[in-house]
Order: sequence, then structure tokens, then C-alpha cells
Amino acid sequence: VAPVAAILDVDGTLVDTNYHHAVAWYRAFREHGLVLPVWRIHRHIGMGGDQLVAALAGEEWDSEHGDAVREAEGERYGELIGEVAPLEGARELADDWTTSADVERTKPEPDLVSAAVEKAGGGEAVMVGDSTWDCEAAQRAGLETVGVLTGGFSDRELLQAGAARVFGSLPELLERLGETPLR
Ligand SMILES: [Mg+2]
Repeated sequence: VAPVAAILDVDGTLVDTNYHHAVAWYRAFREHGLVLPVWRIHRHIGMGGDQLVAALAGEEWDSEHGDAVREAEGERYGELIGEVAPLEGARELADDWTTSADVERTKPEPDLVSAAVEKAGGGEAVMVGDSTWDCEAAQRAGLETVGVLTGGFSDRELLQAGAARVFGSLPELLERLGETPLR
């Protein structure tokens, strides 16, 4: 039996970037005349930038300012990236799982998840992610999600979005791997 591949989300799962991205989006929107509560932005982190703007500001605003605000977010995030650190356990996990793991950015669309599964060999796979968008994308691609709390989404939110299990951190996940399909 082939090992179950882990499809690893990056932002908020391996690297502690969610709040940096939230602030970068806040500044980018603000530069374009739209002040949004940071908590609302944070709830959309993990969604692709191509979808996040419309989800927060509406289709019309997106068609007028979307490209500019996405570019501004890249610049504002670039100013913060020096402060970004890997999350605890990320290096160990990446070292241990080099044979079965694949790293892919995700969004609610299942196509990226399916592409990652294919890259990992096309067998059985499980998503490891921090956001409700990971759970949603995985579910739509027919995968289970194991959630971690490091992105700032609660266990209840992740479970409601379809996560099979939620762990506080990567070290906790690694310690209790036997309780997941990744064992
Ligand atoms: Mg994420």
C-alpha cells in the first residue's frame, strides 16, 4: 500500500504569515480608499488573492481596483517579510516527509489541490492546512483535511469547514500522527 501523501499548505501552516498578510491587505485596501476591519480580512486569508478582493469588497470594486490592490499587497507584504519566521515543527516536518509530502499553495478552488495530489503521485492524500479555505478546497477535491490552529482560525471553524481533526500545532500533529490518516 502506497503511503498517504500530505498536501501541505504553506502560509499559516509551515510559515507564520497570516497576520502579516492581513496587515498587508489592510494597508493595500486602505491605500485604495477602502478601510476594512482587520479581523474580516484575516478571515479571508488562505483564499487566493484573485478571489479575496471580490469576497471582501465585491465584484464591482474588484474589477475597478483589484489588480492595483493585489499589487499593493505584494509590496506591503514585502516590507514585512523580514519579520516572517517558520512555525514550530515546520523544518522537522519538511525534513521527515520529503518522500511523501508536497507543498502547494491553496485556495477554495479544488484544482490546485488536485494538481498537488497528482504531483505527489496521484494516490491517497490528505490536506494539512490552517484555514477554512484549505478545508473547503480539499473537500471539493475529495480529500480529508487535518487542521492546525497556527493560522488563527479556531478548531470549531476548521471542523465546521470540514476538517477531520484539528491540532494546536505541527509538533502536536506529529506527536499524534497515529490518530490521522497520515500515520
Ligand atoms: Mg494557509
